[in-house]
Amino acid sequence: MVVVVSLVPIPFQIIALTQERNDLFEYPLDRLVEIIRDLGFRCTSCARCCTHEFNGHVFLVDHDVTMVKTIDPGALEPAPYPEFCDQNGVFYVSGYALRTKDDAPGSCWFLENGRCRIYNQRFTICRIYPFMLHREPDDAGVVDWRQLSGLNEHGEYHHEAPMEECLTLARQVKEYEYAILTQEIAFLECIQNYFLRANLRHVQKVYDDGMRRFSKGEPVTVMVYYAGELEKHQVKKSC
Ligand code: SF4
Repeated sequence: MVVVVSLVPIPFQIIALTQERNDLFEYPLDRLVEIIRDLGFRCTSCARCCTHEFNGHVFLVDHDVTMVKTIDPGALEPAPYPEFCDQNGVFYVSGYALRTKDDAPGSCWFLENGRCRIYNQRFTICRIYPFMLHREPDDAGVVDWRQLSGLNEHGEYHHEAPMEECLTLARQVKEYEYAILTQEIAFLECIQNYFLRANLRHVQKVYDDGMRRFSKGEPVTVMVYYAGELEKHQVKKSC
């Protein structure tokens, strides 16, 4: 998920993300295909990537949220790390994430006995994982493109991968990352208008206080961006 620093004015955030999306568009598809082929990743069905312990949260783009709503709406929760909090203590986040279970590793809602119970309908991120294409800082703080998550921490490598399969995967990765950035930009535009109309503003101190209350188990209100609208939720930390 793209993490936006709320202290940067929204118009500048929109400009930065639009530039990022342009750069993503320009990233050569054949370079990504080559990387995917060279890595030769093969899933070993260890199911580690479907847990909070291994992978944090699974952020969903809008069309995947639409699908979850038809399969099991209880599997949705507001994505963590909301981007904004207004002066009244209401949080705003750019989308939904998959809910996790209360077991030790924090298994995905759809993971049962180490298998995905909706495998044929699994979501975009689940299909392309562990591949990705976005810029992140490395351990030394150098920002560059990253194309793989969890190198050598799961799965097997250096398997022969058919060219056609790599090409399809590379296309899906670019489309997914493009959709994420598009959703984030649309969210920022929505918030900009919503705040202006309702005379709201982001207040960092209220944000920090709200997060403290939330971490102690108090409920908070979170507005989640979905399909051009903001959906209201009362959220309480599960212990
Ligand atoms: S939906 Fe299925 S594949 Fe995706 S994280 Fe959950 S269990 Fe894993």
